[in-house]
Amino acid sequence: MSNEWEAGATPWLRRHQPNAGYGSEPNPIQCMFCGSRTVKRSGTDHDDDPGRIELYCDNGLCDAREMVLLVKRDGADSGLRADVRALHLIDDGTLDDVHAAYPPEARSYSVADMARVFKGVAERRTRKPSPPKG
Ligand SMILES: [Zn+2]
Repeated sequence: MSNEWEAGATPWLRRHQPNAGYGSEPNPIQCMFCGSRTVKRSGTDHDDDPGRIELYCDNGLCDAREMVLLVKRDGADSGLRADVRALHLIDDGTLDDVHAAYPPEARSYSVADMARVFKGVAERRTRKPSPPKG
């Protein structure tokens, strides 16, 4: 496999582990936290989003069970993603209390409009997806 990746391309891990899910993974990778070779794509990982991968560590002795790998800078438009922008706001102190800034009843119509226009990837980038059925 090539060691190249460009913005928008399928991440290597999705080719290495073509099936995300809750069962055993024949090609696990090394956990960045415990070092065990027990990491697989989470059942909530979304194939349509090339800039974000959700992972799960299957080592019962590792507390880092659910993880997200998010591309913050890719030379393209990753900086425009809602999840990347939210992280920047938290990291630079602009948004120090998410619950105060966005109480549960608050809605953003521009996000909903985006989700309608760019169904699929935009939904994934703007809100947590529903758990897979079945
Ligand atoms: Zn681990």
